[in-house]
Amino acid sequence: MLLLEKGDWGAGTTGGSSWMIHGGPRYLEFDWDTTRLSTQDAGYIVSIARNLVYRVVFIIPVLPHDRNNIERMETAMEVYDRYQPLKKAHPHTRLTAEEALEAEPGLTRDLIGAVTMEEWGVDPHRLVYANVEDAVAHGARALNHTKVVDLIRDGGKVIGVRYRASDGTMSEARARVVVNATGPWSPEVSGMAGVPVKLRAAKGIHIVYPHRISNFSISAESIDGRDLLMVSHAGFTLLGTTDDDFYGDLDSVDVLQDEVEYLFQAFERVFPTIRSYRPARTTAAVRPTLYKWRRYEDELSRRYEVIDHAAQGVEGFVTIAGGKLSMYRLMAEQTSDAVCRKLGHQAKSTTATTPLPGNESDMEPAVDLARRCRITALAAVKLQSRHGSHAERVLDGDRAGRLVCRCEPLTEAELSYAARREQVRTLADAFRRVGLAAGPCAGSACVMRAAEVIGAELGWSASQRFDAVREFVRGAWLGRAPVLGPSGWAQEELAQGAMRGLLA
Ligand SMILES: Cc1cc2nc3c(=O)[nH]c(=O)nc-3n(C[C@H](O)[C@H](O)[C@H](O)COP(=O)(O)OP(=O)(O)OC[C@H]3O[C@@H](n4cnc5c(N)ncnc54)[C@H](O)[C@@H]3O)c2cc1C
Repeated sequence: MLLLEKGDWGAGTTGGSSWMIHGGPRYLEFDWDTTRLSTQDAGYIVSIARNLVYRVVFIIPVLPHDRNNIERMETAMEVYDRYQPLKKAHPHTRLTAEEALEAEPGLTRDLIGAVTMEEWGVDPHRLVYANVEDAVAHGARALNHTKVVDLIRDGGKVIGVRYRASDGTMSEARARVVVNATGPWSPEVSGMAGVPVKLRAAKGIHIVYPHRISNFSISAESIDGRDLLMVSHAGFTLLGTTDDDFYGDLDSVDVLQDEVEYLFQAFERVFPTIRSYRPARTTAAVRPTLYKWRRYEDELSRRYEVIDHAAQGVEGFVTIAGGKLSMYRLMAEQTSDAVCRKLGHQAKSTTATTPLPGNESDMEPAVDLARRCRITALAAVKLQSRHGSHAERVLDGDRAGRLVCRCEPLTEAELSYAARREQVRTLADAFRRVGLAAGPCAGSACVMRAAEVIGAELGWSASQRFDAVREFVRGAWLGRAPVLGPSGWAQEELAQGAMRGLLA
């Protein structure tokens, strides 16, 4: 098997998601099946990827004039509670205004009451990479920064792909079945076979804070009645998201000032101090939603479809489109089943119960790992959250405990390992694979050192290291610009100037 990714693992829509493995209670209003399927699959995912998931508890505040009053909100949660055991989550609790304020003092005093809801957070970049690692362990070849530029055809049959590596080298690979699993890009790739895949692509953005700003995750109603979420992840906060039809270039999705204002406006109502926190960056991604005419974007189904293009006269070519991260495993299972039918294989999928790498055995307590390997307990927790029970194999002698950054406990040993063993080729890849520059410094204190560590593994010259830093700093700046106010711009100019000076 050959797996090709034109960017980096998880760098598409998946990395720009809200980082949740959830059931989606709002789909209960119009699509119970999606809630059931994603809750069920979420249950499998949290047991095969235990080190990558953590509980995320929401407080859903109810304010005067909200679309749902407290009774309606509680009724919805009572229905959702029936699904919660499928994903090993707890039922809701109804809170008075006083109880909600005690739990979350940042909430508005206008509160009437609240309900709680439990979901799972996940590191989507690591989840994708764990699947890649697993595929490689089962004999696959997996190449990132390698783009499929054409499909090789023999009459009405797809018999392989033509692909370009990051150094421009062109290659070909033949296969009995080619799978198009390219999210929002799937119409582009299916077009190479001359068959249409129709999506209703929808853009969503997030504002990212490099720390937690609330005790709990919080939902808010937007001006047009949509449910928005402030998600308190392990060490950072995501505020999102928008959902707008998207017609632009999928490889260049910008965050607009209007979108940022839309989110602030909604959260200011429930969490009045929201504008006083300084965001680190923004993210933007495009949902690969199945096509439907006329419906309001937010109400579109998150269903998926496995398309065997033989029905359109093209053999050897299958597309998986639509769906959600929370049911990625089920989508992959059904796609593999379609491929196996074509190949005449009868084996049954075991991915619902087979642990992903790092989950084959129980993890030892982080403090024990920390003591034995002479790293801080926080560094051990972070290491285990990425590598599970394989954490120790990442550490390497003397460099085990030396940190790359003051604000994010990432060790040089882990960064070297990522470059050596985990296909990290750029500093942005290192952000995805091991959380480089994810802390409050957003890279200003650590990317130079990180370029040295990665460069030593990949044989970068001094100028290649500087180029890598420049490229990263520019990307980070573009992601941050939409959330910098006037004083933020001034500080950013100063920081950029200092960095340019350091880079000569
Ligand atoms: C703002 C937002 C928030 C969301 N939040 C959640 C959430 O919290 N939970 C949830 O369950 N779902 C969420 N979703 C939905 C979920 O993120 C997506 O459904 C899912 O991640 C899509 O995964 P995918 O693999 O289909 O697409 P992608 O993650 O985009 O993967 C497709 C990959 O194909 C690669 N590719 C494209 N063309 C080529 C080519 N020619 N050659 C080689 N590679 C190519 C791309 O680089 C990309 O990495 C969210 C979506 C958005 C937009």
